[in-house]
Amino acid sequence: MADRFDVVVIGAGPAGYVAAIRCAQLGMKVACVDRWRDAEDKPSLGGTCLNVGCIPSKALLEASEQFQAIRDHGAGIGIKLSGLELDLAAMMAAKNKVVGELTHGVETLFQAHRISGVYGDARLVGKQQVEVSEHSGTKRVLEAAHVILAAGSAPTEIGEAQLAPPYIVDSTGALAFDRVPRRFAVIGAGVIGLELGSVWRRLGAEVILLEAQEQFLSFADEQIAKESLKQFAAQGLEVRLGARVMRAEVKNDAVSVVYQDKQGEHSEQVDRLLVSVGRRPCSHGLAAPEAGLLLDEWGFVHVDEHCRTNLPGVYAIGDLVRGPMLAHKGMEEGVMVAEVIAGQSARVDYTAIPSVIYTLPEIAWVGKSEQALKGAGQSYRVGTFPFAANGRAKAAGDTRGFVKLLADETTDRVLGVHIIGPHASELISAATLAMHFGASSEDLALTVFAHPTLSEALHEAALSAQGRAIHAAQTRRRTR
Ligand code: FAD
Ligand code: NAD
Repeated sequence: MADRFDVVVIGAGPAGYVAAIRCAQLGMKVACVDRWRDAEDKPSLGGTCLNVGCIPSKALLEASEQFQAIRDHGAGIGIKLSGLELDLAAMMAAKNKVVGELTHGVETLFQAHRISGVYGDARLVGKQQVEVSEHSGTKRVLEAAHVILAAGSAPTEIGEAQLAPPYIVDSTGALAFDRVPRRFAVIGAGVIGLELGSVWRRLGAEVILLEAQEQFLSFADEQIAKESLKQFAAQGLEVRLGARVMRAEVKNDAVSVVYQDKQGEHSEQVDRLLVSVGRRPCSHGLAAPEAGLLLDEWGFVHVDEHCRTNLPGVYAIGDLVRGPMLAHKGMEEGVMVAEVIAGQSARVDYTAIPSVIYTLPEIAWVGKSEQALKGAGQSYRVGTFPFAANGRAKAAGDTRGFVKLLADETTDRVLGVHIIGPHASELISAATLAMHFGASSEDLALTVFAHPTLSEALHEAALSAQGRAIHAAQTRRRTR
């Protein structure tokens, strides 16, 4: 006999577990199914984000940043150390501990909200029926008035460099190396390539990033991308643009990578190779063909602005659907769908979703880039402010980068904010809030910011857009 719920969620990543919690808060009887198993073959909630994504990568970025800061900058601020040593096994154990605590935390949240956690592989078999194959081999059918698909994404694989762990790996493999590679190559200088490239560079590897496109970070503001390429080169992250990988093979405890660029064919011998060329939605086999779930040409589940699929009562959220593959975007869609099911009016503000790259300096942005505004023929003003003129950045010894604010020439509404610099990941929240509430650059300029803080750079960029920055020569530009 089938178990009956108000809502069944497939996937307990950030999109799915947040949807499940919000549905439970709104009084619904909820089950959330997930198939993820950890290294000890135990069920583990939290999806890509908690198990092999946002959290473990940030734990290693943080640890490697501290290691590098002490090694390279300690003496400059009066901290002298001798015998500094890396204990990679302990660093990995600390990362795994954080992951364990957070994945367990999701279980605790499920218990607190009386959500039934179901462990197994789920498939939508009818618009109100989900079939689950449990790890034991038992099959169960869950019935629900509403189904939320939140199956997430997986790394894209390429035939030219097939995975051969531990030599040729995806991001999951590169989060768990048991020694620092002497030479580390990455295919794809995108977000994962830059973050994991930074981790291993800081720990001592030579890092080469092979990027197929001629333009670096094509999805970021061009001025920010240009500045970041300069900063990364200075750290020894060697980015080779226009590099098309032809083949990669494992030979004699090493990987040989052959690629082509404008100059011709090249070959590199490295210890480890990461393939990070994007991710694809996990939609294959998620619904029985007779269920009739509509996918788009790239395999994303087709949804409207409220994440409704073509099947009544069936929703899809997170990496499984259009839009940026970001945990916070999926979480907000989870909340929206739960509220829509409860009959409330809810929406996600897709115009103000922040993006962050957790390198050093960090890169963060929200809203439109300058090239996008130019392309759309929109008139805008630009205000910029360098961290070199910010007291807190000076005191912390990290003055790399700047804040750039774009405002509508006529209405003064903030259209985009782009930051490269210390703690950009935290600073972008104030800009996101401003954009969400439709603030003008004048609103930001009139706001009082604490001194001395890095956020004063955002204030000064807004003042600069107004033509009245205090702590820098005027940098306002008008563009039609
Ligand atoms: P997922 O997190 O992928 O979760 C989907 C869940 O569904 C999984 O647990 C899976 O087991 C389950 N599932 C799939 N199919 C089935 C099925 N048929 N039956 C049962 N269960 C199923 N994003 C950020 O915003 N910030 C970051 O700093 C960041 N860092 C990242 C670093 C790395 C290395 C990677 C790989 C990704 C990173 N991301 C980051 C992206 C982020 O992890 C994803 O955007 C996010 O996890 C998507 O959430 P989701 O719930 O849609 O899917
Ligand atoms: P990405 O889209 O950020 O970058 C992939 C890069 O690989 C691109 O620059 C692309 O031009 C390049 N590329 C594609 N095919 C190639 C080939 N054959 N040879 C060489 N280069 C090639 O993808 P990613 O870095 O794999 O990350 C996947 C997703 O995970 C992203 O959508 C990202 O949003 C998410 N993520 C987010 C964060 C964060 O928010 N900080 C961190 C990690 C991952």
